[in-house]
Amino acid sequence: MTSFNPRVTSMQPSATLAMSAKAKELKRAGHPVISLSAGEPDFQTPAPAAEAGVQAIREGFTKYTQNQGMPRLREAICRKLRRNNGLDYAPGQILCSNGAKQSVALAVSVLASEGDEVLIPAPYWVSYPQMARAAGATPVEMQTFVDTNYRITAAMLEAAITERTRVLMHCSPSNPTGSVYTREELNAVAAVLRRHPQVQVVSDEIYEHVIYDAEHYAFASLPGMQEQTVTVNGFSKCYAMTGWRLGYMAGPQDVVKQAAKLQGHFTSAPSSISQCAGIAALEMDMEYVQSMVVAFRERRDYVLEQFSKIDGVVCPKPEGAFYVFPQVSTYYGRKPPSGRTINDSQDLCFYLLEEHFVALVPGQAFGGPDGIRLSYAASMENLIEGMERIRRALDLLA
Ligand code: PMP
Ligand code: GLU
Repeated sequence: MTSFNPRVTSMQPSATLAMSAKAKELKRAGHPVISLSAGEPDFQTPAPAAEAGVQAIREGFTKYTQNQGMPRLREAICRKLRRNNGLDYAPGQILCSNGAKQSVALAVSVLASEGDEVLIPAPYWVSYPQMARAAGATPVEMQTFVDTNYRITAAMLEAAITERTRVLMHCSPSNPTGSVYTREELNAVAAVLRRHPQVQVVSDEIYEHVIYDAEHYAFASLPGMQEQTVTVNGFSKCYAMTGWRLGYMAGPQDVVKQAAKLQGHFTSAPSSISQCAGIAALEMDMEYVQSMVVAFRERRDYVLEQFSKIDGVVCPKPEGAFYVFPQVSTYYGRKPPSGRTINDSQDLCFYLLEEHFVALVPGQAFGGPDGIRLSYAASMENLIEGMERIRRALDLLA
């Protein structure tokens, strides 16, 4: 019998990817599925980035690049960090990877190991606890609720830190809740961390530009935090480049060096073609990104308005990313006419998908069992139909 690494066997598959795959499968079988599960912009990659990729192919720029990423891309990332975030990094402190997912995984892997704790505010993005486990570390959840708009407080953090804590995961704007930390809240969190220099923050800022009524502050820009933070960012969300697989980390030289070593053995640098597209994305006018954000805001407002009309659903207003995370637990324990019992968020999502053909992701996969996640990175037409199906489906639960 084949035996497997228990760190892998104890992992759950990614629920976001699993729900998207299930939705695609039902669609292929001819069902009229509306997919509001994947966090993937429905916009095309902006033309300057796409053109740069095509040009790279035409010019035969199709070979391995430096493991850390092309110097030109890393220089462009340094300029971006200075321009948008007021941060100074040298190109040697940047590591380009095959998506921000890889960047987060590398950062966690080099910072945490057996016996260490990784603090994760919940609801969290599905992959964080699994990445901690893969590194041999223990994920420790800090549960947040609607009352603090899903944000941890400095007091919660202070109480959660032990001598084994090595990493704090931070994600603002947040996937799955869309919540955004204010500058005051971040300063209070940073003040706690300054007293615990053994804790490194892995700050996932991939939704930086998808923000509505709030301002984004890079965690590393808080007083004293640059040396204690690994910033992760990428091109998937803000530049609609999910399929190009390009992300990066910026951090203290020694952290980046260790992560680069791991990458050098596991995957090497991301595609040379994607790196050329990434340079163009960073250098283009932000108008395209801003127009996506205008569309996302309109969709968010529509979805919130619809949820506000459904009895028993509480849906905080997200200030960023493209998700809403409504609380739906009042529907647990009920039954639709088909007779299945809806005991939790997973049952509810399967009911919505299999009987009403609308795909969402169960909150329990994000450590928020009372909620479900809806991605409004979808056309208005699909959102109108999707929300109507959700309303009807919940209405049928008795
Ligand atoms: N972090 C968060 C919070 C995300 O939502 C995603 C989306 N998949 C990622 C990281 C990874 O993005 P990618 O690997 O496509 O750059
Ligand atoms: N990050 C996106 C999401 O949360 C894409 C899927 C994934 O990579 O997990 O839906």
